[in-house]
Amino acid sequence: MTKISHNRVLITDSDRLAIDNVLTSGWIAEGKVVKDLEGDFVNCLGGGKACAVSSGTAALFLALRGLGIGRGDHVAVPSYSCAALLNAIYMLDAEPLVVDVRLDDFTINVENLLTDYGHIRACIAVHCFGASADVSALCERGILTVEDCCQSLGGPQGLIGDVAVFSFYATKIITGGQGGLLWDETGGVAESARDFREYDGRKSYFPRFNFQMTDISAALIRSQLRRIDQILKRRREIRHAYIDVLPNGLTVQSGLDDPNILPYRFVIRTASETQRNSLLHHLKARGVSTIIPIEGFELLHRYLKLDPKQFPNSESLAKTALSLPLYPDLLDTEINRVVESLKSFT
Ligand SMILES: *Cc1c(COP(=O)(O)O)cnc(C)c1O
Repeated sequence: MTKISHNRVLITDSDRLAIDNVLTSGWIAEGKVVKDLEGDFVNCLGGGKACAVSSGTAALFLALRGLGIGRGDHVAVPSYSCAALLNAIYMLDAEPLVVDVRLDDFTINVENLLTDYGHIRACIAVHCFGASADVSALCERGILTVEDCCQSLGGPQGLIGDVAVFSFYATKIITGGQGGLLWDETGGVAESARDFREYDGRKSYFPRFNFQMTDISAALIRSQLRRIDQILKRRREIRHAYIDVLPNGLTVQSGLDDPNILPYRFVIRTASETQRNSLLHHLKARGVSTIIPIEGFELLHRYLKLDPKQFPNSESLAKTALSLPLYPDLLDTEINRVVESLKSFT
């Protein structure tokens, strides 16, 4: 029995052709194709300005920097997310404020944030696995909001906050191997990032950094972006096939029912850690690979040595969440195997 991997990158003939065109063009560093990719995002998001960079983490850093975040500013982040958020904040000498997440859709608990925390200058609101964080509530309270869209694309996310950030790492929705992009409606943040990402041949000096994307990556990302509607459709089909056979007592992450929202992961929540581990082994025995999306030791409050009791939902998700294969080129036979495996779990 062949193993169904949890993730698989899909490279089509048109992707190869797009890269080959760059390779034969004589210009492979940042150039016209990066500019075209930025244009694609401006078109998709209906205006504003975009700046492509080397990674999602670089984009997060540049987004906060462009909003004027600096030494001592408090930036709220969800605990159930990745260290990239902390890295971007610390690079600016700012202070992370870790907030617990909601159990239903795994996004930052904005209610907690607004009632239990003191002055917050900014927030990185992660649209976790595609589910939308409550960005409007943050903006209404005057909190500068970075929409972390590294796990959401092709949907409505990114338009409400002060700036949106995307990643094109190998396992994301579309990829260039590595890569990131930031977008904002007024363009001030994108322009400050554009100034920062290139240090060579500048009229005035201040410390900048090489955060550029190559035209090779941009060509691959652009080629995949053209398929975003198909990707969304296929991912939704697979999600529905799994939901239809979800065993009793298991729940799936909420917030992904809206047909415009692209489900990035299919994450099941079990009743206990023991049940999660038996589900994991049940699927593994049938050749279905799964991952634990975020382990306990990776939770941001644990990295910062804060009291785990203050973050009960993140702690619970680390123990009970399991992610199943969900990507556009899963074969029908593979989807059926996952479906049958779910059906036979008791
Ligand atoms: C992947 C990811 C990042 C970081 O992006 P990189 O391109 O890997 O640097 C940041 N935030 C979230 C939510 C992500 O999923």
